[in-house]
Amino acid sequence: MATIGFIGLGNMGGPMAANLVKAGHTVKGFDLVEASREAAKADGVTIAASAVEAVKGADVVVTMLPAGKHVRAVWTEIVPQVAKGALLIDCSTVDVESARAAHALAAKAGLKSVDAPVSGGVGGAKGATLTFMCGGSNEAFAAAKPILEKMGKRIVHCGDNGAGQAAKICNNMILGISMIGVSEAFALAEKLGLSHQALFDVSSTASGQCWSLTSYCPVPGPVPASPANNGYKPGFATALMLKDLRLSQEAAKAAGAATPLGEHAEQIYAAFEAAGHGGDDFSGIINHVRDLATKK
Ligand code: NAD
Repeated sequence: MATIGFIGLGNMGGPMAANLVKAGHTVKGFDLVEASREAAKADGVTIAASAVEAVKGADVVVTMLPAGKHVRAVWTEIVPQVAKGALLIDCSTVDVESARAAHALAAKAGLKSVDAPVSGGVGGAKGATLTFMCGGSNEAFAAAKPILEKMGKRIVHCGDNGAGQAAKICNNMILGISMIGVSEAFALAEKLGLSHQALFDVSSTASGQCWSLTSYCPVPGPVPASPANNGYKPGFATALMLKDLRLSQEAAKAAGAATPLGEHAEQIYAAFEAAGHGGDDFSGIINHVRDLATKK
């Protein structure tokens, strides 16, 4: 069993670290927030006095932080303290450039590293059912896989350094756009006198079928487990969807890709957030779509 340093014990990192403890690993963790440290301690994580203390003597280091600037800062601090031969895994969702900068820090110190952002949300983190999208060398991926398998059920090697982050933002751009598409279809159906169930029964088995419709339907009724049945409590908050769409737009600009629907989707979720709905599940965007009609 490995000794694992875990930095960032928030909504995702807390339960992920707890699953590593359950799997029999020794986990030394650190977070800036006391409540997160206390919750992790109750789950069997040994709390260290700092990020540097948490990684000393670790075979594997996992970071689960808010954004690229946090990952760059923390990796700059910890990499010089990490033991030779250890593996660094960043599971945060960050820009591709920061992911590659973090890999470069590790490489310079002779350490293996993997970018491994996740999909599956807090439920997936608690249930150890996350999907990990990984970027890094074959050797680093092979070392990371048995650790990630204790926190998730699908571990995909997407390519070289930064490929995990690239896969994550491309996937979430599809998701953000498709949720607006499904919401527009339901809003139009309402105006046309077509019931939610009738549209669902047709489209869920026809060419309009997609995850946003069949697994995460934005109207209550057809998919009982979707946040629409629970007042749009997240799930996956609008603020996080907006973060990912912004990352996809930054990447599109930097790479010279045209993503006009991705750009429009970012604007639509930004307006929803500015109206005070950043904490709502992103499928609540249907309410914003309905409001647009009344403003016409
Ligand atoms: P969170 O804000 O709950 O947790 C982040 C934690 O990092 C916080 O507890 C914060 O105190 C800690 N932190 C920040 N700087 C630190 C530092 N220098 N040293 C130690 N700790 C530090 O966020 P989260 O929901 O757990 O998300 C983490 C990452 O996972 C983000 O990149 C997010 O985009 C991604 N993600 C989140 C979800 C989700 O549903 N919440 C889903 C997929 C991916």
